[in-house]
Amino acid sequence: MSQPHIETLAVQAGWTPENGQSRVPPICQSTTFRYTSAQELADLFDLKAPGHFYTRLSNPTVEVLERKMAALEGGVGAIALASGQSATTVLIMNLCNTGDHIVSASTIYGGSFNLLAHTFKKMGIEVTFVDQEASEDEIRRAIRPNTKFIFGETLSNPSVKVLDIEKFARVARAADIPLAIDNTFPTPALCRPFDFGANLVVHSLTKYADGHASSLGGVIVDKGDFNFANGKFPDLSTPDPSYHGLVYTETFGNLGFIVKARTHVLRDIGCQLAPLNAYLINMNLETLPLRMERHSANALALARHLEKHPKVAWINYPGLDSSPEKARAKKYLKACSGVFTFGVKGDVKAAAAFMDSLQLAAQVIHVADARTGVLHPASTTHRQLSDAEKAKTGILPELIRVTVGLEHIDDIIADFDQALAKI
Ligand code: PLP
Repeated sequence: MSQPHIETLAVQAGWTPENGQSRVPPICQSTTFRYTSAQELADLFDLKAPGHFYTRLSNPTVEVLERKMAALEGGVGAIALASGQSATTVLIMNLCNTGDHIVSASTIYGGSFNLLAHTFKKMGIEVTFVDQEASEDEIRRAIRPNTKFIFGETLSNPSVKVLDIEKFARVARAADIPLAIDNTFPTPALCRPFDFGANLVVHSLTKYADGHASSLGGVIVDKGDFNFANGKFPDLSTPDPSYHGLVYTETFGNLGFIVKARTHVLRDIGCQLAPLNAYLINMNLETLPLRMERHSANALALARHLEKHPKVAWINYPGLDSSPEKARAKKYLKACSGVFTFGVKGDVKAAAAFMDSLQLAAQVIHVADARTGVLHPASTTHRQLSDAEKAKTGILPELIRVTVGLEHIDDIIADFDQALAKI
């Protein structure tokens, strides 16, 4: 059979039951696994044999989800984590030590911005934020000898800017460092960053992957094409004293990055995805391509409607013909996903009055699930950022973020119209 399409992978990848096994991957709600010989367990600990022995390191249900995400993104391996934040944390801890440096697009999720700008800074890992519209030369100038990777979001949360992945990939390749992309908003159903030169992908699975606002989760996927034995990543390519001298790149080849993330970082930090959450996310992924088509179609229809509305001051959705991002969106995305931002005419109070009048759409912090919702980032998700940081991440005071759900589009439009009529 030729390489299956994404719709087929979303349903079938990750679990091929043997004769008599359950068709649906079972929930393995167990912390521990039984063996009959001390030697077998010793071999597992030495990574000489594959197998599960303690759920903090790996679990059969979580493994099914990891295999599916690797297949969907087109990578060689994946590691699932407790949340999107823990995926970014493990990514950084697997690549950087105190004294190292990261270059990141500035237009990223507020939580990731805080993690990079403040939490890791305290641990001696510095970040240079670059405008994602900066020239290749400018980005190159931000690279230092101790820069360990470049980071950005395919579609930024909440400003829905489309990253020029190929531009960032060229800079990363020239510097011989990996490009890591947060692909949460498009999901692999709409964009596969590996096709444009990214080496690593992270996700908050909490968003469209789960898609029903039921479970937190995160994942890192490795394309397997970056040479971590190039001298810049000694933790991966020289003996690991915390794993009796194991050299990840030698022993595991292009799976070395994922193996180290699991046996070293996850082992020590313990931000493991719960088997029940893995089961739910894996099940919900079966409908991901279908859901992303409908989220995108509904968002485009609502954005087109609001664009013409007399009470709307501006709207930002890369799928609109009027968007300056339209051409780039066409290059990188099959469709533009379900999130956009807009501003009503008037001040922040008018925005609040509009949001308070919505009946079908709820005010929620969460984004990217089946139900339509709105949020005022400046007073919520990005509240902890300074005014300068807000400006850097593109958060205007009047900006309203809309996450367009799977309800009938006529009902969503009717709700927005009646709320706009109240301001
Ligand atoms: N990355 C992006 C793009 C996000 O939107 C979020 C959360 O909104 C995260 C990462 C963090 O994910 P989580 O909330 O699952 O920790």
